[in-house]
This record gives sequence, C-alpha cells and structure tokens, in this order.
Amino acid sequence: MVRLSAAWLLGAAMLGAQGRSNGCDPASEISSQVCTARQMLEVWPGLYLGGAASVAEPDQLREAGITAILTVDVEEPGFKTGAGVEGLRRLFVPALDKPETDLLSHLDRCVAFIGQAREEGRAVLVHCHSGVSRSVAVVTAFIMKTDQLAFEKAYENLQTVKPEAKMNEGFEWQLKLYQAMGYEVDTSSAIYKQYRLQKVTEKYPELQNLPQELFAVDPTTISQGLKDEVLYKCRKCRRSLFRNSSILDHNEGSGPIAFAHKRMTPSSMLTTGTQAHCTSYFIEPVQWMESTLLGVMDGQLLCPKCSAKLGSFNWYGEQCSCGRWITPAFQIHKNRVDEMKMLPVLGSQTRKI
Ligand SMILES: [Zn+2]
Ligand SMILES: [Zn+2]
Repeated sequence: MVRLSAAWLLGAAMLGAQGRSNGCDPASEISSQVCTARQMLEVWPGLYLGGAASVAEPDQLREAGITAILTVDVEEPGFKTGAGVEGLRRLFVPALDKPETDLLSHLDRCVAFIGQAREEGRAVLVHCHSGVSRSVAVVTAFIMKTDQLAFEKAYENLQTVKPEAKMNEGFEWQLKLYQAMGYEVDTSSAIYKQYRLQKVTEKYPELQNLPQELFAVDPTTISQGLKDEVLYKCRKCRRSLFRNSSILDHNEGSGPIAFAHKRMTPSSMLTTGTQAHCTSYFIEPVQWMESTLLGVMDGQLLCPKCSAKLGSFNWYGEQCSCGRWITPAFQIHKNRVDEMKMLPVLGSQTRKI
C-alpha cells in the first residue's frame, strides 16, 4: 500500500490533482481494500475514473461535484432518483472489455463529451465495470488529445496515478491508430478503412451481411466529386473500377504480419505513393464486388462488365509481391487496370496518366 500511496502522491503532483476526493485513504490498508470496490479516483483535475460501484454512491458523486457521467459498459446503470441526479448529463457507450471490441469508432464522441462537460465546469466520471480497461482507454484517449501526447506517454501518466489501470491489448492498438489519425477518427483514412475491414473479418464466420458502409461507392454511379481524382479502369473494357482514395497503401515487405495486427505500428501504415515492388493495388471493397465477396473465404475478382480477371480477394489475407501480408486482402493487379485522371473541365472524360 506504500507503493500505491507514493504513486498516488506522485501522480497527483504531476497532474495537479487537488486533494483526495474519492473518500478513500490510500495510506490505510483496510480502508483501501474497502474502498477499492467503489473507488473513484480523480485522475485529472475534475476528471474521475471508476468502476460500476462508483455510480451507486450518489453521495460520493455529489461530494465530488460530478454532474456528467460517461458509462462504457454492457449495461447502462440505473440511477436512483433523488437530489443530485436530475441535471446529470450522461453518455452511454455499449462495449465489452474484449480486444475485438470496437472502441475506436466511439472515441470522438467520448472525448467530446468529456471536453464539453469540462468546459462547462462540470466534474466528469468515466466508468466501466471495474475501472481498469474500458474507462482507462477512454480517459487515455482524452489525455492524448488534450495534451497532444503519444499513447505510451498518456497511458504511463495515467498508470502513475492509477497503477491497476490496464486496458486490453486491442484497445492499446486502437489508441495507437487514434494517435496515427491525429486524435480524431477519420473514417475516410486508409488507417480507419483497414481497421474496419479487420474488425469485420474477425466476425466473418458468422457474418450474414456485409455492412454497406464497408463498400466504396461504385465510381460509375458517381457523377460529382470526381474532379481531379484518379480513377482506375479495366484495361480491357474501360469500365471504371475504383478511385485513388480506395487504395490502402502499405509499407513494402516487412515480413509476414497476417493475424498479427498488434505488432504493426501505426507509422508503418502511414505511407503514401506507390511502391515499385508491389505488383498489385490493395484496395477497400467496392460496391460491384459485393455479391462475389459474401459467403466465401476467397476467390477471383472479375471485371463486372467484361469479366476479365482483375485480381483476387481473401478474407484471411494475401501476400503482396513485396512480401507484405495484408488482411483481409482485395487485390487488383496493376497490369490489369489503367490509371486515369479526371479532366477538370470535361467532368466525365478521362486522360490516361
Ligand atoms: Zn506490397
Ligand atoms: Zn472490363
């Protein structure tokens, strides 16, 4: 308990937290054990972290001046009616504490909720079931964005204040992606698209329908917004197949990474331009592929107009010619398509580049 006490004091000094508002005295072992269950810790000025029990204590909430509660749990807690409960601002994000849980897609609204409440001078409680993983991940994201800190640094700071904080490895990975996207979930970025595809693949065996938002809009159905964009057309019949924004770039051949996305660093996903040794484009699925992709693990990708063989797909991943594994993979051979630039004035006409 000496360790906890010292760590807490160090953390409190580091983060500028004032006083102990959780009602627990970490210097007393007995008190500490009793308190652990409903412990609520001020980890940042006006920002508290806790488990499910911390919301069951209206007095404690009132004492700490908490008027905003963010729940990251399977069930939304019920609040006893009474003084202090009305006017309570709440946000509920349903999430299991599992590495495959998609927390990343909810981070923007979680961070915004905390930020807005803080701006209004409210004290905020972020809690999950045991206050160790889900709530820790959300609070870490908030600290990362607010102080523009790298994941490791923000997490380390939080663990100094709350040594038992330990998010699951899936959340660690998601926070690294959050950092790579600039502390904002950019759903149009290659990083997010790749992440979404991986999430879908994890559920693949039970998958009945592929989520529609997974597919890029068929370029033949888009009449606007293509200006200055690069289009890829079937070399044989000229049908438009995909846009430049659908390409999911990767770093050339740093060894097999299939099924090991945790080992892939976000910076390795931040690449631009094409690689000389990659003979294929790895792209996000496009609408015209939908019927081909569903219900099968792998197969060929054929031109929807002339049926020319364009490439292949595999939900378990495929290896690029450069040696890199991409999971899942939707691969189009570069020599089966032509890269065309939309002419700004003529709109629908293209020029080979
Ligand atoms: Zn490659
Ligand atoms: Zn074709």
